[in-house]
Amino acid sequence: MDAHYDLDSVIRKVPNFPKQGVLYYDITGILAVPEAFSYCIDRMEQLCKHRTIDAIAAVEARGFIFAAPLAERLGIPMILVRKMGKLPNKVYTKSFELEYGCDVVCVQEVDIQKGSRVLFVDDLIATGGTLRAAASMFEEHGAKVEGFLGVIGLPFLNYDRALAPYPVEVLQVYH
Ligand code: AMP
Repeated sequence: MDAHYDLDSVIRKVPNFPKQGVLYYDITGILAVPEAFSYCIDRMEQLCKHRTIDAIAAVEARGFIFAAPLAERLGIPMILVRKMGKLPNKVYTKSFELEYGCDVVCVQEVDIQKGSRVLFVDDLIATGGTLRAAASMFEEHGAKVEGFLGVIGLPFLNYDRALAPYPVEVLQVYH
C-alpha cells in the first residue's frame, strides 16, 4: 500500500452548496488526482481485507465511483442501489424521510442473496439516512449488513447513531 496521502488537501470545500448554510465536500478533487484516488481504494481494501464480505452495495451516484474498484479488487459482486425508475429488472423499494419530504431507494430483487454479508460504500456519510434505508431494504429481504464504509464522514450529523449497531469507517473525518 502507498504511503499516507493527505486527502484533505484534494477535497474541495464549497460553502453554501447546494443551499445556504451547507458546506459541500466535493470528491471531484480526489478523482482529479490519480494518486489520491488509488490511495482511497487501497485504504478501503485494507479495511475490508480481514473481514468476511460477500458483496459491496452502493447508492448512486458518487458511491458507485469508489464501490466499483473496491469490489473488483476484493473479487466480489457490486450491487447498485438506485433511485426509482433506473433499474431494468424487478425491484425492492424502501422509502425514507429527508429533511424536507421523502425519497426512495431501489435494488433489483435478483441482486439480493439470502444470508449474503453486504458492505455499504458511499462517498460521504452525513446523517446516514440514505445508507440506513438501503441497508434496511437488504435486511428485509434476507441479506446481512456487514457495515458501512465512506470516504468522508461528518460525525457531528450523528451517522453512528443512525447506522448502529453496525461498524462505520471513514477515511477522512470533518468536525
Ligand atoms: P446522508 O443520507 O445524510 O448520509 O447523505 C446522503 C448523501 O448526500 C451522501 O452520500 C452524500 O453524497 C451527500 N451529502 C450529504 N451531505 C453532504 C455534504 N456536506 N457534502 C457533500 N455531499 C453531501
